[in-house]
Amino acid sequence: TAGPLATVPDPVDRTLGGLLSPDFDESSCLSRYRASLYRRPSPHAISSYLISALRRYESLHRRCGPGTPAYVDAVERLRAPPNASTSSTSGCSYIVWTPIEGLGNRILSITSGFLYALLTGRVLLLHSSGGALDDLFCEPFPGSTWILPATDKDNFPIRDMEQLGVGHHESLGSALRRGGGEGEGPTSLQLQAPWLYVHLVNNYDAQDRLFFCDDVHGELLRRVPWLVFKSDNYFLPGLFLIPRYEHELARLFPRRDLAFHHLGRYLFHPSNTVWDMVTRYHGSYLASADERVGIQVRVFGWAPISTDELYGQILDCTQREGILPVPTTSVSDEHGQAQQAKQVAVLVVSLHGEYSEKLRDLYKNGSTTGGEAVSVYQPTHLGEQRSGEQRHNQQALAEMVLLGFSDAVVTTAASTFGYVGQGLAGLRPWVLVGPVDGKAPATPCRRAPTIEPCFHAPPNYDCRARASGETGKKCELSKGTLILAGRRFVH
Ligand code: GDP
Repeated sequence: TAGPLATVPDPVDRTLGGLLSPDFDESSCLSRYRASLYRRPSPHAISSYLISALRRYESLHRRCGPGTPAYVDAVERLRAPPNASTSSTSGCSYIVWTPIEGLGNRILSITSGFLYALLTGRVLLLHSSGGALDDLFCEPFPGSTWILPATDKDNFPIRDMEQLGVGHHESLGSALRRGGGEGEGPTSLQLQAPWLYVHLVNNYDAQDRLFFCDDVHGELLRRVPWLVFKSDNYFLPGLFLIPRYEHELARLFPRRDLAFHHLGRYLFHPSNTVWDMVTRYHGSYLASADERVGIQVRVFGWAPISTDELYGQILDCTQREGILPVPTTSVSDEHGQAQQAKQVAVLVVSLHGEYSEKLRDLYKNGSTTGGEAVSVYQPTHLGEQRSGEQRHNQQALAEMVLLGFSDAVVTTAASTFGYVGQGLAGLRPWVLVGPVDGKAPATPCRRAPTIEPCFHAPPNYDCRARASGETGKKCELSKGTLILAGRRFVH
């Protein structure tokens, strides 16, 4: 397990068992075929159906993506007068992602949008608002781009995507409100809009939530060539609630709790700049260890806890669960023992530096009851979230990727940053349970039941009864309000 092998991985490994297309130029994105040298091999099988669906999607993207005649035609139709036919001759339709919140949220909403594209035959394009995606990820689809071409004033007919929000005139929710009166279902609507905005943010309203109802997809959305969406959620599990996709989803993901693990490794390859940050850090501090433990510490404003209290919780968790060795207070007197000792590298990722400092202090005399040598590292402690800055996001991505190289991970409840790390690693993390009245809870951490991220704001709407209804199973690791996935979720 000591760092990357010197050789280039064999063709099966480099494409992660066929998950990745072999058709890329290696040098344009070093991480794509090399990450498998650093990560533990995934024990989780990929369905051959998913592999062929990805290859089919890639050719669709190549045919319909930016720069193609089909794309030019589809953009032209967006400019057409209101009552003109908006259906394209090429049969290409699109779903456009726009960024909100931090990188973890963004990665999870892109993944959700990608699965929606896969299910509906749409092409996923990302609006790199304010350069949000510059030099961050490689292109995931061969021979094309997933970046929506510059949307400055005269280029792209859907303007000011940053302004889209709840209640926007062009939103699905507003369209449903206009078209269907009380008691009428959305099927009564005849929608000919050239584009529609889908609001899947935490504050979405009752009408927006109808996105997770079957009839909306058949009668309405299928006819709209361009959808734009915004989300701070891993809404992918909600797609499992829609009956028309059930059969296809079961073939794509015989184990639905592996959706992010597979799609995340398929979509998100750090750019060469970020990969350089990752490999340098790994090479300097982590490569020679026998075991790597990743600890992700996130402090949320809505769940305040003091540094000492949280540090105590981390210690309690890692000792109780045997994640970190037990330090001894005496200095080791057995000379030479350190050379044979098992080397454990602890990677702490956090905006704050105190936790790794305290842990480093704890192990500073180098002695543990099991004779392990523990070293503690933290790449950055940036103090505060600045998701508008390129360098900041590059560092965040580098740390998520490094977390994904761990042999065991501890994450913070409800952190999407943590979800990405655990998903890339393919590990069920130990989750630091959220504080109770500012104090660490009696059970400091619990093993997550799955590696799949939580869907924090599920629709909680029963489409058949047209009434509120529970649509999720609780994650139970934070304040008891997190939802793991759709109703039919099976571990
Ligand atoms: P969440 O808020 O924990 O769900 O995760 P997000 O990734 O969506 O937003 C948090 C953002 O804060 C990250 O994207 C980073 O920009 C920053 N951040 C939080 N924790 C860390 C960390 O451990 N390391 C770095 N480099 N940035 C962090």
